Amino acid sequence: MDKRRRKQFKALRTGHPFLSIASFIVMCVMMSMIVWGLASLIVNYIVDSKLGAEYNDLQYMGRVYEEAIDAVDGEDVYRLLDAEGRDYYIFDLNGDILYEHGENTSSLTAQNAFLLYTDDEEDDNTNRIMVRTDTKIPLLSVDETGHIDYNIFEVISRVDDLMEYTSEVGTASAGGWAGEIFNISGAVVKIPMWIDMPLGDTGNVLCGKVFIKLNMTDASWLILLFALLAILVLVLFIVILVNLIKELVRRRNAAKIFFTDLSTHGKNWMWFLLRGEHYMRSSVAKRDTFAVVNLVFVNYRNFCICHSIADGDELLRRIDIYLNKNLRRKEMCARVTGAEFALLLRFNDKKELENRLNDLVRGLQHIDNEHIFHFQAGADLIGIARNPGGKIVKRRYFDMEIAYNNACTTRSTMDGSEESGVAFFDESMVADRKWIDSVQEKQRQAIENEEFQVYYQPKYDPQTDELKGAEALIRWVSPDFGFVPPGKIIPIFEKNGFITEIDHYMITHVARDQKRWLDLGFKCVPVSVNVSRAHFIEADLAEQIRDMVDEVGTPHEYIEIELTESAFFDDKKALLETITRLKGYGFVVSMDDFGSGYSSLNSLKDMPLDVLKLDAEFFRGEGSGVRGEIVVSEAIRLAKSLNMRTVAEGVEVKEQVDFLASQGCDMIQGYYYAKPMPGPDYETRMKDNEANLRRAAESVEAAEYGLFERGLDAAGEGTADLGSTAGFEEVGTVGGEV
Ligand code: C2E
Ligand code: CA
Ligand code: CA
Repeated sequence: MDKRRRKQFKALRTGHPFLSIASFIVMCVMMSMIVWGLASLIVNYIVDSKLGAEYNDLQYMGRVYEEAIDAVDGEDVYRLLDAEGRDYYIFDLNGDILYEHGENTSSLTAQNAFLLYTDDEEDDNTNRIMVRTDTKIPLLSVDETGHIDYNIFEVISRVDDLMEYTSEVGTASAGGWAGEIFNISGAVVKIPMWIDMPLGDTGNVLCGKVFIKLNMTDASWLILLFALLAILVLVLFIVILVNLIKELVRRRNAAKIFFTDLSTHGKNWMWFLLRGEHYMRSSVAKRDTFAVVNLVFVNYRNFCICHSIADGDELLRRIDIYLNKNLRRKEMCARVTGAEFALLLRFNDKKELENRLNDLVRGLQHIDNEHIFHFQAGADLIGIARNPGGKIVKRRYFDMEIAYNNACTTRSTMDGSEESGVAFFDESMVADRKWIDSVQEKQRQAIENEEFQVYYQPKYDPQTDELKGAEALIRWVSPDFGFVPPGKIIPIFEKNGFITEIDHYMITHVARDQKRWLDLGFKCVPVSVNVSRAHFIEADLAEQIRDMVDEVGTPHEYIEIELTESAFFDDKKALLETITRLKGYGFVVSMDDFGSGYSSLNSLKDMPLDVLKLDAEFFRGEGSGVRGEIVVSEAIRLAKSLNMRTVAEGVEVKEQVDFLASQGCDMIQGYYYAKPMPGPDYETRMKDNEANLRRAAESVEAAEYGLFERGLDAAGEGTADLGSTAGFEEVGTVGGEV
C-alpha cells in the first residue's frame, strides 16, 4: 500500500482528532483572550475612574504631611491626617511604623503594585500609585517590570466575598475635610486595597487604605457584564465541546463503517491491511513469526447458485465468526472479497501451523450440518527480522499486500481442485505466477498474430514401418519468450478457458494443412487433434468441429479427434452424444492417455471409440517391466475385441517397438520413429513414406515378375521369401524440435 493512502486511512482508522483538539484549544485561547480583553477594559475603567479619586485623596494627605511635618507638631499632623477618616500608617525607610490609624489589614508580605498613573509622566517615582493588595482579596498583582496584572478571574470568583465584605462594611462615609473629593454615599461595593505613597524627601512612606467603591449602577453593570461574559464563555465552551464530541463520534462511526465488511459484519480487508501492517511493524510483533493466510471457500459460488446470495452471506458470517473464535492473541482475520478470508496467525513451528490450518479447514467443512464444504488455504510465512549483526529488529518494510499476494499465489496452485487443502509459499511460485500472468497477457495477441505453430508427430505401423497417422501438437513461437512447449501453456489455457480457442485454432490449421497437402497430391493420413476436456461441455461441439473443417473443405476422415481419458469422467451422456455425432460426421475419435490414471474400462464399453491411445507411462520407468508388458498386451487385446485400433505413445526403443509389433499394436507414436516436427518436415515424411511404399510395391512387383520369369524358365523350383517390409528405410530416432 502506498504511503499516501496509508496515511489517509490511518488518520481515519485511528481517529486521532488532532485537528479538532487543536481547533478546540485555539478557540479556548481566543475565548480567553476576548474575556481577558473585556475584563481588562472593565478593570481599567474601575481603576481609572474609581481609584483615581482615592489616589488624589491619598496624595492630598501626603502633601498635607509634607508641608506640615516641619511646621507643626507631629501629633497635629497626624490629627490632620486622622481627620481624613482613612485607615493608614506611616513607616520609615527601615520599615518601622511611625504612626498608624485605624485597622491595619495590609500585609507586609503582599506585593507592591505600581499603577502607572497619568498625572506626571516625567517622574515615575512620584507619580505612580503603589497599590498594596489586600491579603484577603488580592485583586491585583504585578510583574517584575512593574506592570499590573488584573486578576480578573479572582475578581469573578470573589464576587460573593466582595458582596459579603460590603455588607459588613456597610456604606461608610468618608467625611472629614477631604470628603468633597469623592462622595461615597450610595456605594454598594467597596473593594479595599492599600496604596503606598512616598512622603517627599523624608524617606517615609504613607500607606493608606483606599476603596474602590462601586455604586449600584456600577455594580449592576459589572454584574451584568460579568454575567454576560460568563454566559458567553459557557456557551462558547459548550458549543466547542459538543462539536468536538460530535466530531469524535462521527470519526469513530465513519471508521467503523469503513472497516466493516458488508457481508460478514466483521472486519474487512482495509482493516486487515492497515491494522496488520501497523502491527507487524510494531515492536510488539518483532519477536514473533507469523503466517499471512489466504483462505478460500471453494464451493461458495455453487452454494449461492443452489441457495441464494442471502444464504451465502449468512454462511460467510458464520465462517467469519468461526475464524474469529479460533484466533489467538495478537492474531487477526477479515473477509477480503467473495469467499476469501485473510488471516494473520502466529506460529512457532511450521508443522504445528500446518496442523492448525488443517484443523481450521476441517472445522469449516462441517460448519453447516447439511453440507460438506471445501476450503483451501495458502500461507506465506513471515520470519523474524534481524539486522546484519543478527540482532532482532522491527520489520520496518513489511508490506501486507505482498505477503497476502504470496499467500494467494500459493492458494492458486490448488486451482482446478475442488478439494480442501493447505499449501505454503515458496519463491518459485512467484516466477510461476509471473509466467502465468505474462502468458495470459499475450495469449490473444499470439493467436491473432498466428504465433502458435502446428507440429506433427507421425504414427507408424510397427509391422510395416508405414506412416499411418500423425498427431498435431501445438508450439508457441513467441517474439517475447521464444520457443514455448505446450506443457508450459496448455495448463494455463485450460484454467482460463482460452483452450477452446486454441482447439479451434488447431483444428482449423490442421484442416488447412491437410487440404493443401491433398490438393498437392500427397498421400495424406489422418491427423489427430487434441480437444480439451473443457470444450466437451459445449453441446454443439461436434457441429462446431464439422463446420470448421467444412469451411476449409477437408474430407472428415483426415481429421481425428483425441479426447483425454479424464474427460470420460464428466457428463458421460453428453460425451457419448458428442462422440456419436462426431463419428456420424465421419471423424475418427480416439481416447488419449489410456491408463494414465483414471482408466475406466466402463467408458470403453459404452463409448463407440475408434482408437485407444496407450499412455506413454506404460513404456517408461517401472511400468515397463514384465508386468507392464502383460498390461499392455491385455489392453491391446481388449481394444481389438472392441473393434478399436491401438496407438502406443512415448515409445523410444526398438525392443518396445518389437514387443508392440508382436502384440498386434496398430500404430506407434514415439521418439523411436519421430519427434513432433514442423509442417514442412512432416511433408518430407509423407514424401519419404510414399517413396518407400512405391519402392516396396516395386520390389514386390519385381519379385513377382522374377518369380514368374523363373517359373517360366525353371518351373517347379519352389517359392521365394518375400519379406514383410522389404526395402523400407530404417527411420530410427529423428531429430527436430520437440
Ligand atoms: P499428448 O496429447 O499426450 O501428446 C503427446 C506428448 O508426448 C507430446 O508432448 C509428445 O511430444 C510427447 N511424446 C511423444 N512421443 C514421445 C516419446 O517417445 N518420448 C517422450 N518423452 N515424449 C513423447 P507435447 O507435444 O509436449 O505435448 C504435451 C501435451 O500437451 C499433450 O500430451 C497434450 O495433452 C497437450 N497438447 C499439445 N498440443 C495440444 C493442443 O494443440 N491442444 C490441446 N488441447 N492440448 C495439446
Ligand atoms: Ca494427444
Ligand atoms: Ca497422449
